[in-house]
Amino acid sequence: MNSISGNTIDFDSAKLKIKSASSRASKSVDSSASPPTTQLHQSLSQLLQTSLELDKVLGLFFATLQQAMELDSLEYRHETKQMQFDFGKPALHRCSYRLTHLGDFLGELRFSRSKRFTEAQLKGLESLLGSLLYPLRNALLYHEAIACALNDPLTGCGNRLAMDQALDREIKHAIRKQSDLCMLVIDIDHFKTINDTYGHAFGDEALKATVSACKSCLRAVDGLFRLGGEEFVVVLSDTNLTDARMVAERIRNAIAEMQFELDGQSIPLTVSIGVARRRSDESQKGLYERCDQQMYKAKRAGRNQVIAES
Ligand code: GH3
Ligand code: MG
Ligand code: MG
Repeated sequence: MNSISGNTIDFDSAKLKIKSASSRASKSVDSSASPPTTQLHQSLSQLLQTSLELDKVLGLFFATLQQAMELDSLEYRHETKQMQFDFGKPALHRCSYRLTHLGDFLGELRFSRSKRFTEAQLKGLESLLGSLLYPLRNALLYHEAIACALNDPLTGCGNRLAMDQALDREIKHAIRKQSDLCMLVIDIDHFKTINDTYGHAFGDEALKATVSACKSCLRAVDGLFRLGGEEFVVVLSDTNLTDARMVAERIRNAIAEMQFELDGQSIPLTVSIGVARRRSDESQKGLYERCDQQMYKAKRAGRNQVIAES
């Protein structure tokens, strides 16, 4: 029969349990009803300090647990941060822990194994979870710092640095798989006039609405980045020029059709879009410059247009 047990661990109160647990000596999590050794705690704590990457920290934690007890899988979920990491293959019997510290939610861990968990193993697991507290919290803070460095705070989409990193990755992927990589450069038309007429705050709302409209036309794997001002770039991996042009047209249309209002008055908002496909041996810079040139052709052709390289 399937067994599932769910628990919440507040690390502040758990610390007391861990202290008293580690003062009693024992051999391993599996061997008896006693908790794991102080030595295991110490080596685990040292090991978990070797990385700030959450997946690495959790991978090390899982590998160490597997040495101490029979364990088939570990799943980590943090829904609000949209983070998910899986290790091993899930088995029948499961137990899960929602981890909190000083009121902060640190995520949920689910363990599974083919044999039922004994009380002793659960105690041992809970005790070892204490070693994960600070490495987990630090890894989450690190993740947040990296996300801030890569995100545009106004619209929430990636910034120029994020685009550079994504393009670097996608170009390597395109070379390895010999697949198509396309780019769109999107620039809002007459944005200065929108700002001047309706105010900067309204302009900010127009930028956010533009991002929402773009996202509604893109796959989850597509990258959307704000390069600055009212200019955006979309990176489409495994996409040929015909499909990229269609995506661009969908975005152009979604923005032109958007009901964007101020005090009940509908404000027209349009974009000009350039489309280009990466040529073999072309750098990020080369691709961007060609795509930008297409976008300027769309501006010269009267705006609210898509122009793709021929
Ligand atoms: P075009 O159709 O040729 O692209 O004309 P444009 O007016 O859109 O282009 P221009 O480069 O002249 O103006 C861009 C404006 O974008 C000027 C700048 O004040 C405004 N801008 C840049 N960043 C922001 C921002 O974060 N918020 C707001 N509200 N405006 C911004
Ligand atoms: Mg503009
Ligand atoms: Mg511009």
